[in-house]
Amino acid sequence: MHSSDPGTIHIVGAGLAGLAAAERVSRSHRAVAIHEATAQAGGRCRSYHDQTTGMVIDNGTHLLLSGNRAALSFTEAIGSRSGLRGPGEAQFPFIDIASGEQWTLRFGDSRFPWWVFDKERRVPQTGIVDYLPLARLAWATADKPLGEVMDCRGAIYDRFVGPLLLAALNIAPQEGSAKLAGAIVRETLALGGQACRPLLAYEGLGSVFVEPAIAHLRERGVAIVFEDELIELLFGNGRVSRLKFARQTVDLGVNDAVILAVPPYVATNLVPGLITPSSFRGIVNAHFRIDPPAHLPPMLGVINGTCEWIFPLSGRISATISDAGRLFDMPRTELAQTMWNDIAKVAGLPSTLPPWQIVRERRATFAATPEENARRPTAETSWENLFLAGDWTQTGLPATIEGAIRSGYRAADIADHRLRAAA
Ligand SMILES: Cc1cc2nc3c(=O)[nH]c(=O)nc-3n(C[C@H](O)[C@H](O)[C@H](O)COP(=O)(O)OP(=O)(O)OC[C@H]3O[C@@H](n4cnc5c(N)ncnc54)[C@H](O)[C@@H]3O)c2cc1C
Repeated sequence: MHSSDPGTIHIVGAGLAGLAAAERVSRSHRAVAIHEATAQAGGRCRSYHDQTTGMVIDNGTHLLLSGNRAALSFTEAIGSRSGLRGPGEAQFPFIDIASGEQWTLRFGDSRFPWWVFDKERRVPQTGIVDYLPLARLAWATADKPLGEVMDCRGAIYDRFVGPLLLAALNIAPQEGSAKLAGAIVRETLALGGQACRPLLAYEGLGSVFVEPAIAHLRERGVAIVFEDELIELLFGNGRVSRLKFARQTVDLGVNDAVILAVPPYVATNLVPGLITPSSFRGIVNAHFRIDPPAHLPPMLGVINGTCEWIFPLSGRISATISDAGRLFDMPRTELAQTMWNDIAKVAGLPSTLPPWQIVRERRATFAATPEENARRPTAETSWENLFLAGDWTQTGLPATIEGAIRSGYRAADIADHRLRAAA
């Protein structure tokens, strides 16, 4: 009954999950077609030319760590690994903007967190025992809000664990899922400095994650169609039988499959009965056109400021604020000035605003609470040829590039396996 045609895998959504899925499938003999609703790939991880500042900016400065193995292997595969750079060692400089105090966490270069035993390298005013809750967190099994499983107060929390988990979970850590926080500890901190080296796309996210991916996929014969929004999935005999896009309809053959790599609020409208995370948290990014002073470190954690992380990049300084819903209604100029005041203070620059742009992403990530984490579906669905990908699917990680790419790889592997078994 099944033809010898290996079939086509249709990937809907060209965010990182969709691009990673396409990269994985394109290694096989199957045909791949990507359908993206907008005119641009990258989704929540993209660069664009901003007319106000005359710069190419990112929707948000994205931080990776050297332990993000899927993200790194994706960039290896598409040939852009060298575009991710950072300090040679796992170093995290911080400044307390209220007191002016500065310190740098140095995780060294080992595969074990020896830095915890070194007074010079751990968080000021902390001792070894302060790190035990982190070790317990790494192996937590039941999911609860972090505030119920560890003390979210004190020097180690205020100066290290709090800022780190706020950035990684994009939610006030006390409310965040202990399981997701544990996964971060397990995959990075517990593996020592080798897994904690910060990596940034200094020339922009597009040049590392998006343009090389598109070029690589096209070279492999992948069809990529932009402005091709999926409006409806039609089902029959336990399968997806037809894809209805805004401008075309595609009938699926027996060997064809679909990987839906769209945001959760789009997926729930397309897939009957699908449960997904349904509450989100925002992120604010500001970009200022100015040459960063040479004395600034590659990234700087800010305590007691409005900015949380400051990134001196090529011809600009960018700053990030996580779980930033409280700032979404602040007038834009006021927000830019408030953020610039922090930067000016730590960088020793005048308080006059340079050319700036603010990007507010309301639904930057799903809310990483235990309740929302429990709503994440697996890659498999009740339909034989329909698979899900995206940072909101069950990856075991918070909504991150690493999670998105792993989800794409996983959906591609499962789809391939299912089609092989059916052949
Ligand atoms: C401001 C900001 C800062 C961040 N910082 C970090 C960070 O520092 N480190 C980190 O690891 N992660 C960070 N993240 C998270 C990271 O960007 C995401 O986890 C990742 O990009 C999600 O990729 P995705 O493919 O799962 O989803 P998306 O990027 O949302 O991709 C979904 C795609 O589907 C398309 N689509 C939607 N509907 C349809 C339709 N009907 N038909 C066809 N296509 C459709 C969309 O246009 C989009 O291209 C940040 C996110 C934001 C917003």
